Amino acid sequence: MANPLKKASRNAPGKYYVDKSLCTMCQVCVSMGEGYFDIDWDEETAYVTSQPDGKVGEMAVREAMLTCPENAIGDDGEKVEEKRRKNE
Ligand code: SF4
Repeated sequence: MANPLKKASRNAPGKYYVDKSLCTMCQVCVSMGEGYFDIDWDEETAYVTSQPDGKVGEMAVREAMLTCPENAIGDDGEKVEEKRRKNE
């Protein structure tokens, strides 16, 4: 299970994140996540490039989350997302 204390450092602020300690850089999320994921080759982990805005993006990220073979993609929930939006 993804641990928010081990987030990839380039992860976009918000509820979805990649746990760099679990990620094996298989790139499944990059191919399924419609631009919401990329690989940081220096840190050797995938990361969330931007938080989804709208249902289509949300579905793409959630599908990548369910498909990740390492369960490395986490969801901190709506409160974190609300806080991010207030700070924009
Ligand atoms: S699918 Fe999971 S293990 Fe594979 S690159 Fe993405 S976050 Fe890492």
